[in-house]
Amino acid sequence: MLKLSDVQTFYGNLQALKGISLEIGEAEIITLIGANGAGKSTTLMTICGVLPPRSGEILFNGENIAGSDPDKIVGLGISQVPEGRRIFPYLTVNENLDMGALLRRDKEGMRSDKEYIFTLFPILGQRKNQAGGTLSGGEQQMLAISRALMARPKLLLLDEPSLGLAPLLVHQIFEIIKKINTENKTTIFLVEQNANMALRIAHRGYVMENGRISLSDTCANLIQNEAVRKAYLGI
Ligand code: ATP
Repeated sequence: MLKLSDVQTFYGNLQALKGISLEIGEAEIITLIGANGAGKSTTLMTICGVLPPRSGEILFNGENIAGSDPDKIVGLGISQVPEGRRIFPYLTVNENLDMGALLRRDKEGMRSDKEYIFTLFPILGQRKNQAGGTLSGGEQQMLAISRALMARPKLLLLDEPSLGLAPLLVHQIFEIIKKINTENKTTIFLVEQNANMALRIAHRGYVMENGRISLSDTCANLIQNEAVRKAYLGI
């Protein structure tokens, strides 16, 4: 579904992505793990068009989207849940969800997607008329994921959904990410510092160090890998 080949992205003179290549197949959950500053968020922002790469190819279902406008990329079926949630604090839960569906015209489909979202996250249904900014951190993360789902993406990009959440909530959010993948066959690219959790729900993983992919394998193999255990799993 998505194939990056030798992608290089810069912030001015600073090269954040030093030629990365990776592949995501339809209906897979793929995780990208790595330390602070490795280039994980930059990878996501490059895919969704916020940061155009200086060189390399990004094929989405065979079409090169490198350097395309973010709204075109959303229209093709890629939605991102950015790090730090960034919901609209003064809009209600309901209105936040509608913002995720701006490119859609199928009112009936939007209504049933909202209902589905309220079964995934019942608390959002209970709070649908409450301002987004008054939700707890965990509820805001749920809303950010739900808003992205309202675009009915083929590929969902998640940037550190566990950031700043209590362990129990992290567990709950990861269970729901798995459910979104199994129930809707939504392909998921999950960027995480919480490698322990990410490697448990994903099918395959990539390890990123200093702007490069240093390792890629099935998650079962990565969990057994000595270097990964030492550097990212604290074992
Ligand atoms: P974290 O897990 O801390 O979010 P990350 O792996 O997502 O880290 P990036 O945010 O992609 O890493 O950062 C990669 C590199 O690019 C880092 O060296 C960072 O300092 C640099 N960088 C990120 N954003 C900018 C920016 N807006 N301007 C300049 N440099 C940046």
